[in-house]
Amino acid sequence: MVRATVRIPTPLRGMAGGVTEVSVDAATVGEAIETACAAHPALRRHLLSASGTLHAFVSVYLNDDDIRNREREATSLREGDVISIVPAIAGGSPSPRKNPRTRSRARRRPAVGPLPNEALHRYSRHLILPEVGVAGQRRLREARVLLVGAGGLGSPAALYLAAAGVGTLGLAEFDTVDLSNLQRQVLYTTDDVGQAKSDAARRRLRALNPDVRVVLHRGRLAAGNARRIVRSYDVVLDGSDNFPTRYLVNDACVLERRPDVYGSIFRFEGQVSVFDARRGPCYRCLYPEPPPPELVPSCAEAGVLGVLPGLVGTLQATEAVKLILGVGRPLIGRLLLYDALGPTFRELALRKSPRCAVCSAGAPITQLIDYEAFCGSPAPGIAPEITPEELAKELSSADPPLLVDVRAPGERVISHLPGARAILPADFSRHLSDLGRANAVVVFCRSGTRSAQAARTLIDLGLSNVRSLRGGINAWAERIDPTLPVY
Ligand SMILES: [Zn+2]
Repeated sequence: MVRATVRIPTPLRGMAGGVTEVSVDAATVGEAIETACAAHPALRRHLLSASGTLHAFVSVYLNDDDIRNREREATSLREGDVISIVPAIAGGSPSPRKNPRTRSRARRRPAVGPLPNEALHRYSRHLILPEVGVAGQRRLREARVLLVGAGGLGSPAALYLAAAGVGTLGLAEFDTVDLSNLQRQVLYTTDDVGQAKSDAARRRLRALNPDVRVVLHRGRLAAGNARRIVRSYDVVLDGSDNFPTRYLVNDACVLERRPDVYGSIFRFEGQVSVFDARRGPCYRCLYPEPPPPELVPSCAEAGVLGVLPGLVGTLQATEAVKLILGVGRPLIGRLLLYDALGPTFRELALRKSPRCAVCSAGAPITQLIDYEAFCGSPAPGIAPEITPEELAKELSSADPPLLVDVRAPGERVISHLPGARAILPADFSRHLSDLGRANAVVVFCRSGTRSAQAARTLIDLGLSNVRSLRGGINAWAERIDPTLPVY
């Protein structure tokens, strides 16, 4: 036995009483994780299957090396080793909701030619860099970059790529600007609220640099169109926030032999890498399977520091520019982790998986699949639910259920239900006897994802008659009490 540290990433800290790391005595990585789960039982289902093996959507590193490259859970530990848990996170721009027709207006490349005087002036700070120069600036002008999502990550990336003179920017974005986007989506202004993001983004990018052609793909990127769209670009920058799109973009890039500049964010933490299956691993090598939807709240559920996507999206734009210019060392085979609270940058080595479903020799995936089905639908029957209408009726009865609000304190300031008790899931075990005395318990959160998971936890802890409010307090605000704000 040696003393080792298990680092708890931001998305799982709520399951571990808020701690950032756990000190354990163990001989192997598997024992260390078991010990951490014994200390914080709520972690277990996020990390381990019922049979005690690590989930495929969780990567574990011993110091800077993926344990899949060592002896997995049996990898032995040395005194002072650091074990990092790196869960798949999806955060980026808002997830697809609407599905209008795709309209691709990809055109031919602009003609290669000398740079006009105005361009020499505009890009002068590039031209004096020997690594860019006139040849590099022409290469940027001829380059085509597809931005998947023009949200938190896509906004800074698009602005810097346009400013840098990337000739063609494709925007795969079909959402409209919402007031809550403006905290981080710097492409948009208050006047743009309610308008199509793609139109507002094009206006802003063309105002910044009229040399740039902005091609709008207003439809949702899907298995039916992704390969055709990806094929017409040199580099793809993934700023999506949901797993179906992540896997779709990855697979389309592998099949079309395009680099996928990956970035994702969650609360205070970001990940960046370049997946290029010709030269290194792909996203599936890192995460063969997505986490079940109920285990991973989206940015809309969990929140995100507004400046974080600014940094992560800018790192992605930097990688895209490096790829176009062919300078420096791209982040291929490396995962850059940024923790804004530290602040720390860490780099982990990624390796190609010999069993990857899409990029290994003889891989089974040779065409795009149904990514919604692959990633599952949200919280299928994880816990019993109650609709807002049913709850309204029960609350006015003689024996109303006990309401439990599992949202973060900051969310309770925005809206609350009278009589609700605020208990975070990490504190459930301390309140079990209390909650057990209630006739019935209804758990709620913002939109019903976290509360379904919380209700499941209470049921697993032995409570009966626990239900989750379907659609959360936002559904209640929309259907029962319109005086409450929706957020
Ligand atoms: Zn792969």
